[in-house]
Amino acid sequence: MAQTLRIKRGDQVKIMSGRDKGTQGEVIRILPTKTKIVVQGVNIRKKHQRQVQSGGRTMNPGIIQFEAPIHISNVSLICPKCNQPTRIGVRRVDGKAQRYCKKCDAVIDS
Ligand SMILES: [Zn+2]
Repeated sequence: MAQTLRIKRGDQVKIMSGRDKGTQGEVIRILPTKTKIVVQGVNIRKKHQRQVQSGGRTMNPGIIQFEAPIHISNVSLICPKCNQPTRIGVRRVDGKAQRYCKKCDAVIDS
């Protein structure tokens, strides 16, 4: 569970397993459960949308592409300093949690 809180929106991550293995992207959403995230351009799904009426709006038919959530254990954070997938450590500095790269010791949070 500790790992789940270490990834934040806006982080660059690398996909470590599954269909998009090796892909790199930005975290655009973290699901409320914090065990799944949505990464830009990763795990693209297509949904066929029929024309529907909802609340007075008409949604046009077509194919909608969207990024499906992936489990957080399948990604690794990319350190902005050494530019490699890394493990993140957390330490307390002045009473605040601070994330750091276990490879180069760079502070990841601003
Ligand atoms: Zn680093």
